[in-house]
Amino acid sequence: MEPITRSKLSAADAMKHVRALTALAPRHAATPAEHRAADYVASQLREIDGLSVAIEEVPRLCEWYEHDARLRVVEPVQRELTARAILGCGPTPEEGITAELMYGGRGRPEDYAGQELRGRIIIHDPPRARTLDNQVAPGHNQRDLHFVQEAGAAGLIEYARLPGNINQAPLLAPREGLDLPCAGITYEDGQLLKELLREWYAAPKGIVAYEPMPVKLWMWMDVTKQLGTGHNVVSELRGTEHPEEIVLMVAHHDNAFGPGAVDNAASVAVVLETAKAVAANGPYARTVRFVTVTGEEYGQVGSSSYVERHREELAHAKACIVLDLVGNGDKLFYITESIYDGQLIRNSEELNHRIADVAEELGYLIHPTLLEFASDDGPFVAAGVPTTYLSRCISNSWPWLHTDMDDNDAVDENDLKVVSEICAESIARLAGE
Ligand SMILES: [Zn+2]
Repeated sequence: MEPITRSKLSAADAMKHVRALTALAPRHAATPAEHRAADYVASQLREIDGLSVAIEEVPRLCEWYEHDARLRVVEPVQRELTARAILGCGPTPEEGITAELMYGGRGRPEDYAGQELRGRIIIHDPPRARTLDNQVAPGHNQRDLHFVQEAGAAGLIEYARLPGNINQAPLLAPREGLDLPCAGITYEDGQLLKELLREWYAAPKGIVAYEPMPVKLWMWMDVTKQLGTGHNVVSELRGTEHPEEIVLMVAHHDNAFGPGAVDNAASVAVVLETAKAVAANGPYARTVRFVTVTGEEYGQVGSSSYVERHREELAHAKACIVLDLVGNGDKLFYITESIYDGQLIRNSEELNHRIADVAEELGYLIHPTLLEFASDDGPFVAAGVPTTYLSRCISNSWPWLHTDMDDNDAVDENDLKVVSEICAESIARLAGE
């Protein structure tokens, strides 16, 4: 039997949404570009019969603009590195800063114990992937870099997790940004700096017979930031029998660097296509809400604001499907567990399996995986809502994340339709039963 929603979905229409959103990039939260992205989503949802649409404001978000960034080794060698400013970081003085470099290990407070950070530029390792066998405690929130700032550091450097000439910043600033100037560099440049500091991966400590020598850098970050307001888009297809019981679908429309096609215009496009198919097939006994949020890149700020604002209604939420990073990658995953706000969270096993079953009926496979960092599923899971998070490219192994290469060409049009089919059919069943 043909699924009820499949015929109403279009890969070409979904791709049109991706192009519209990437044309607005960078869609940094709380900037006019992010507001235009929210307006685009709202205007598309308003064209769908039966949906009510509203924009909700998310205050006290970092509104940030990157103009230019430079980083240079000035001692003991001279070398220009390719740097970019990390989303939400602070500026340097106009003449830049020259300071000694210090290695901060994995960036945990204990890695800095007994070390003087004041006046130094810190480099620490990017977050490492967790594996299915690695059940260690989640540890501290790697996003929380305030202690580096409070210890008086002059600047911070993060290097990309993946080799290759890729400049991505895996860790971004928290909600209100940082005053600290922060630069993202390539993996290779990160290794070069560690090599100069005699911090090696390859040789055990004590084997290397060189004395450490001071390494000095010049850093120049031309960025501007202030507190601003982001926009969430909330739309609803009201339930006919149990309107208080809600099924949600959520994706973020802000982005970090580059066009943000896979991260996360593609997921927003899937939300729009799913909304069209679900509304044409509804209404249902239960209420369905389609929500796109701001500020995911600052630590799920838009989704946590949504959860705060609707906490009472969400006590009756039946299910929530979150999408982040679809349209590229070889497998579709549902996330079993991840880390949100420094805590281990678990997605709904029952909902994960229900959606995987629907996918299988439609002829698609979804695979389980755990993930190091939560996306917008975090606030919903923390609020007790049964939540699934679907993703096609696991962020720690997807080289184009947060780079200029995450453009329209990175998006497989047909995948947008595949994920829309799975979501639309799942929502139709969850809301209709
Ligand atoms: Zn994302």
